[in-house]
Amino acid sequence: TRSIPAMVEADAPSFSFEFFPPRDDAAEAQLWEAIRRLEKLSPSFVSITYGAGGGTRDRTVRVTERILEATSLTPMAHLTCVGHSVAELRHVVGHYASVGVRNILALRGDPQGGLGQPWTRHPEGLDHADELVALIRTLGDFTVGVAAFPDGHPESHGFAEDAETLVRKEAAGAEFAITQMVFDVDHYLRLRDEVARRGSSLPIVPAIMPITNARQVVRMAELAGQPMPTAVTDRLARHGDDPAGVREEGLAIATEASRRLLEEGAPGIHFITMNRSSATLEVFGNL
Ligand code: FAD
Repeated sequence: TRSIPAMVEADAPSFSFEFFPPRDDAAEAQLWEAIRRLEKLSPSFVSITYGAGGGTRDRTVRVTERILEATSLTPMAHLTCVGHSVAELRHVVGHYASVGVRNILALRGDPQGGLGQPWTRHPEGLDHADELVALIRTLGDFTVGVAAFPDGHPESHGFAEDAETLVRKEAAGAEFAITQMVFDVDHYLRLRDEVARRGSSLPIVPAIMPITNARQVVRMAELAGQPMPTAVTDRLARHGDDPAGVREEGLAIATEASRRLLEEGAPGIHFITMNRSSATLEVFGNL
């Protein structure tokens, strides 16, 4: 199998799918149904996010391992520094090495009190994602990705810091980056071009979330710590309480953004699936 950096840097665009660890058995069944359907598209890789608390963290490890064992897919595990000592981080990464998971997305994670609260590191832990990248690179033959923020990270002091942070993560050993959800393609292009201007060749893969209902929109904006562009919310608002209309518009918005990103030379598209397959399948089909 090819490495994720090789797939991301290939001539043909990469495409990948993101899942989150299921909360219970019913959610796990739904996740596996989505994985099986999306597996048929032969994505470049799939990723599994890392939760805030112990139980969901074990499930991230379990699902990642199972994807490796039971499917043809290349899994990438997300990992955060939140609440972990360096010894615990080494343990998780060592476990991945032992079962053959080779790809990790290295993240700091959000402050434990939630967005807007100050970040406090574990007393024996790490402060920033670049330190986690460096740690993982010392622990085995891993390819390591990092997060990028075209709309600005909520704690950042401006666009220059967001670009500089990415360059620093690349210097620490990151081989590709994945963005937060992109709704404004110009913001993605601005960050990509600024990072390149600073001499970086880090491939930055934009993430797309096909919106399928109005509640999701509010929730996503909260999670990202910033409002969605009015160009997007206005288009969705036109459909009022009509769920089919909102869904169709949401998928059109995702399709248009993906098309433009690829036309502008983005190395691929990372789909945030919410553990369901149909919206992603439709947007992928449109492309
Ligand atoms: P960092 O790179 O450490 O950046 C955090 C802040 O510190 C930024 O403002 C940055 O500019 C600044 N900074 C960075 N390095 C330094 C330095 N050396 N010195 C001074 N300042 C610095 N969260 C989860 O909990 N689980 C997940 O699975 C998850 N997956 C994600 C996937 C993607 C693609 C993205 C974009 C985000 C994801 N997140 C996830 C959210 C992420 O953990 C948060 O946004 C977090 O607040 C920032 O993480 P980071 O890795 O970018 O941190």
